[in-house]
Amino acid sequence: MKKWKCTVCGYIHTGDEPPDKCPVCGAPKSRFIDISEPEEASAPEPAAAAETVPEETPAVESEAPAETVPEPESPFKDSRYRQLFEMMTRYHGHPISVHIPNGLLPVVVLFIFLAAIFNLKGMATAAIFNLGVVALAMPLVLFSGWVDWQNRFGGAMTNVFSVKIACGLIVTVTAWLLFIWLLVNPAVITTPQSARVAFFVINLIMLGAAATAGWYGGKLVFRE
Ligand code: FE
Repeated sequence: MKKWKCTVCGYIHTGDEPPDKCPVCGAPKSRFIDISEPEEASAPEPAAAAETVPEETPAVESEAPAETVPEPESPFKDSRYRQLFEMMTRYHGHPISVHIPNGLLPVVVLFIFLAAIFNLKGMATAAIFNLGVVALAMPLVLFSGWVDWQNRFGGAMTNVFSVKIACGLIVTVTAWLLFIWLLVNPAVITTPQSARVAFFVINLIMLGAAATAGWYGGKLVFRE
């Protein structure tokens, strides 16, 4: 039996062959390397850059990137915001920020449906405020997700990441659309009108997209 490592997410597979597709990040078979031999393992390992700092410490402290870095470098090595971006990944900026929409969105949708069913104006107002926080948080969520994707996964475009990016964009667009809609016409929740079905459907799309992104995000974080 051999050991294979996904060079995108670091998932370890044991078997004679690597899997056709990484079960964690969706990377193809070709992205797996044989790590059965310890000597071979250290050479091609782009995913390691996030966890360990391969270069000597002065390179991190000074703004100037080291020229003699043998390992794959930070994707932000030429950016003046490199330290900020690396800190965002090290201190889990994306998983933390993503809990704002993932915590509030189910509450928003629940409040909107309860307000509609029981004609609760106060609950409708609460939903609008919460949705506003979600809409405002989404740019930070998208940005920290992009930074994490570059830092931890080398920006590899596998199906898991394309789904996450699509879901993040759907949540952002629908949250802003519904929030502006409610600012213009808050009565759409409690007053029967022709656009109300579309309004509820968009709420469910938003919730589904957030749940899908969260599901794949959880798989990437808890990859064991
Ligand atoms: Fe993977």
